[in-house]
Amino acid sequence: MSDSYSWIDEALDAIHRANWYRSPKLLTGRAGAIMQLNGQLVINFASNDYLGLAGDERLIQAAIAATKEYGTGSTGSRLITGHRQLHRDLEQAIAHLKQTEDAIVFSSGYLANLGTIAALVGKRDLVLSDQYNHSSLRNGAILSGATLRDYAHCNVENVREILQHQRDRHRRCLILTDSIFSMDGDLCPLPQLLDLANEFDSMLLVDEAHATGVLGATGSGSVEHFGCTARPIIQIGTLSKALGSLGGYVAGSAPLIDFLRNRATSWIYTTGLSPADTAAALAAIRLIVQDRDSPKDGLTNRRETLWQNVNWFKQNFSDPLSAQLPSHSPIICLQVDRPFTVLQMGNTLLQQGLFVPAIRPPTVPTSRLRITIMATHQPTQLEQLVESLHKLFSSQ
Ligand SMILES: *Cc1c(COP(=O)(O)O)cnc(C)c1O
Repeated sequence: MSDSYSWIDEALDAIHRANWYRSPKLLTGRAGAIMQLNGQLVINFASNDYLGLAGDERLIQAAIAATKEYGTGSTGSRLITGHRQLHRDLEQAIAHLKQTEDAIVFSSGYLANLGTIAALVGKRDLVLSDQYNHSSLRNGAILSGATLRDYAHCNVENVREILQHQRDRHRRCLILTDSIFSMDGDLCPLPQLLDLANEFDSMLLVDEAHATGVLGATGSGSVEHFGCTARPIIQIGTLSKALGSLGGYVAGSAPLIDFLRNRATSWIYTTGLSPADTAAALAAIRLIVQDRDSPKDGLTNRRETLWQNVNWFKQNFSDPLSAQLPSHSPIICLQVDRPFTVLQMGNTLLQQGLFVPAIRPPTVPTSRLRITIMATHQPTQLEQLVESLHKLFSSQ
C-alpha cells in the first residue's frame, strides 16, 4: 500500500493501545439462550432476541414458505419491482400492533432513522437529541443538515431551556429519543417530552427498537406503556430485536407515511426487504397481536416470562461494588471504571460459560458489562449468572 494509506495502521494501533479494539465473535448453532461461541457452549446474555423468537420454528417455517413462493431476493426497490403483498401485510400488521393509521417498512432500523429524520427536517430546522441516543438518530440528524443540539440524558428541563432559547429561530423542530436506551436500559420521559413538543410546536420521534414486543400491556412498546397511543408521535423501530427478523419500520399518521414513501431516500433508493425477512417479522407480529386479541396463545406467557426473569434477576443481584445503572428493561448494565478491567471480567465470565459482553468507549462514555435477559432463559441459568457476578465483584 502507498503512504496515503499508512494512517490506517496508525489509527488501528491507537485503537489497540486504548483497549478499544473490537472484532466479531463467531457464534454457531441456532439463535437462542444457549449458543456456541468459538466452539464453547455458553449461556447467552448478549442477545437482543428478548422473546426468543429468532430461533422459533413458526418464524423459520414462515421464512421458508415465503422464500419458496417469492424467491430469495425482492429484486428491486419498493417503487419499481420490490413491492409484494407480503410487505403491505407486514406494514398493516405493524400499524395494527402500534394502533397507528399506517406504517412503512425499511431494510433496517438504522436506515429507517436516517431516511425519516433527513426527510422531516433540513437546514432551516432544529433537532434536539438525547446525548445517549442511538447512532442512527444522531447520524440522521447530521445527514438532515438541521441545527443539532444534544440535551442531557433524559433531562426534561434541559430540553425546555434549549427550546426556549432556540425554537423561535427555526422553522420546524424535531425532538429525538430512544424509548429504552440501548446501552443503559433506562426509559425516556415520554409524556413530559410530548408535553414540551406540544408546547413548542415541535415533532417528537421515539425509537422503540428495544421496547417493541417488550413494553406495554400488549407488547406494542413504550408509547402504549405510557398510555400515549392516541397522541401525535413518530414511532420508529426495528424488526431485528424482539421480533427476531431483520428490517426497520416507521408507524404514524397516514399523511406521514405517505410523505415518507415519497421523500425518504433510504427507502426509495434501496432494495425492498427480502421475502424471508418480511414473512418472519410478520409471523412474529401476528403471534404478538393474536395474543392481544385472544390472550390464550403462548406469547403473553413469553412476555410475562421475560418480565419474571428480569424482575428475578434485579431482585437477586444486588452488589454494592457493582455500579448498577438504572434499568426499566431487560437490559441491565454494571459499570466498571477501566476498559481493561471490564474486558478481564467479560473473559472470566466466559470461562464459566456465561456470555456477557463488555461494552467500552467509544460506544459508551464509561465501560460496562451489559446483560440482556431473555424469556427463554431458564431459572438455573439466571441463578448461575447471579452467583458468578457476586463472586466476580467481591474479588475486585
Ligand atoms: C438496534 C437499534 C437500531 C438499529 O436497528 P437495526 O434494525 O439493527 O438497524 C436503531 N435504534 C436503536 C435504539 C437500536 O437499538
